[in-house]
Amino acid sequence: MAERCPLCGSPEATERFRAGEARLLGCPGCGLGRLEALPSAEELAARYGEADVCTDREGVFKEMELYRQRFSARLREMSRHAARGRLLDVGCSVGYFVRLASEAGWEAEGQDIARRAAAVGRSAFDVKISVGSLRELAFPGDSFDAVTMWHVIEHLPDPVGEIAEVSRILRRGGLLAIETPDAGSRAARSRKERWHYFKPEQHLFYYSLRPLSALLGRHGFEILARRSVGGTGFAAGLRRAGAGGAAEKLVALARKLATLRRAVVGLRGIMGLNDALLVYARKR
Ligand SMILES: [Zn+2]
Repeated sequence: MAERCPLCGSPEATERFRAGEARLLGCPGCGLGRLEALPSAEELAARYGEADVCTDREGVFKEMELYRQRFSARLREMSRHAARGRLLDVGCSVGYFVRLASEAGWEAEGQDIARRAAAVGRSAFDVKISVGSLRELAFPGDSFDAVTMWHVIEHLPDPVGEIAEVSRILRRGGLLAIETPDAGSRAARSRKERWHYFKPEQHLFYYSLRPLSALLGRHGFEILARRSVGGTGFAAGLRRAGAGGAAEKLVALARKLATLRRAVVGLRGIMGLNDALLVYARKR
């Protein structure tokens, strides 16, 4: 007997597909997709705590270049919806976004359960990163002007509790930015277990616009803007390939491909191939 849907409480669940040991369930009530078997908080802490990251300072700065274009665009978009103030990047890893947000004038800090990544980020980027789950860290209420979650919410075993906590620590009128794989995208629906974002060892929940809107609405958020985006798998793939090593070569390759990629990103949008969701929401 499957657990109830954590978002809408429905006891019903339909199987979307199986892949090896993993079974993806869909909620007929709200559309949220979830793995049938979720890991415990302890398992996740063990999985992410000491996860391998590039550890040399020079390498980390080079890796940041893979993210600069995308994160700079996000920062420009955020400035349309919010005045720069205190920002928390949830699931910040080594803190690329924290660093770039600081450079853009935000008073930015990060949170992650990945202890090793946080240590590398602190020393390389001179940024503040707190280690622990959001609820363990218990930031003061109404203390942030913006919270960002870039490809993080799909990793969280208790998204409802997490968004409640985000809502608590954001001030009224504060901005929440979320990017997550779009399980409602054409790529996800047609490729099923072969979709590149179906990663049962990391991605526990699978959102489309409907359940994500329901999750945000339930915690008092009003959606300001949303759109389909794509192309993040590219940088992530390069990063994984380059972890601990040939970052320089990869950055050179990324630069060469940048022009081509801009054209491809535009084309993907036109052809409906984008497979991630980007949402900006305001706490009422
Ligand atoms: Zn549901």
